[in-house]
Amino acid sequence: MSVELPEAQILAEQMTNTLLDKKVKSYDVKDSAKLQKIGFMNKKLKDYERLVGCKVISITHRGNVIRIQMNKKMNLVLCPDYGAKILFHKSADTLPKKHHLKLEFTDGTFLTIRQTGMGLVYSATDQEAKDLYVIKRDFSDVPSPVGEYDFTFERFSELLDAKGQNIKAAIVGKTAVVVGLSNAAFQEIIYKAGIHPKRNTSTFTDDEKHEVYDAMKQVLNARICSGGKDNWLNLHGEPGRHTPVMGPNMKDKNCPACGAEIEKIAHGGGQVYFCPRCQR
Ligand SMILES: [Zn+2]
Repeated sequence: MSVELPEAQILAEQMTNTLLDKKVKSYDVKDSAKLQKIGFMNKKLKDYERLVGCKVISITHRGNVIRIQMNKKMNLVLCPDYGAKILFHKSADTLPKKHHLKLEFTDGTFLTIRQTGMGLVYSATDQEAKDLYVIKRDFSDVPSPVGEYDFTFERFSELLDAKGQNIKAAIVGKTAVVVGLSNAAFQEIIYKAGIHPKRNTSTFTDDEKHEVYDAMKQVLNARICSGGKDNWLNLHGEPGRHTPVMGPNMKDKNCPACGAEIEKIAHGGGQVYFCPRCQR
């Protein structure tokens, strides 16, 4: 499954509680060819060597990008876009068989990252980090849908009006008016808001825009509070408790609100489940 803003936020918070001040003792890279080829891992393995001897000084995230900042102007940038297992290990006993990157710290603990779908695992200097595509994309002036005081309804409404596009394009991907969301959050948000997935935002009434804004806040905050999605594992290998109100888990089921059969369409490069009666 994809890792979106709520899960990235949980990981960043857990990393702050777990990794701060730890010093990298060694690294190991495996199965990297595919990710290197598309630029999602450093082409030169030696680039990871630069992390050795560095101490973790801060962890920040924006959208679904996590930046583990170290001293000596180094960073480990993670963007688990299409799914990753990012795990902390108190000892070597729980190390997984597979990883793309394993960091061992001087206190005998470990961090392992295994991309299960496409995503970025990059060692970068402060300067190199600035030029990374995912940093430019998510550490940008595009608003974050939660956690920022200036992301008001008025701002959201302005951004929707400025573009006038399909609602999926407005929430997910390159033309989105917010960072950090993908198809999973999209399906939940528009179900809650009662909006059909094929609607164009230029046809929205003010009330409908408000429904989408409120649903976005509600869905994302609920997911953060319940520890992420129920098919996702946090830094300590524990599953989240959030079951999506709409998505693949609703296949062949009926809408809990109206009883209509849930439908599925291919839309915007993914499958979208929705209620044909509640979503207009
Ligand atoms: Zn319904």
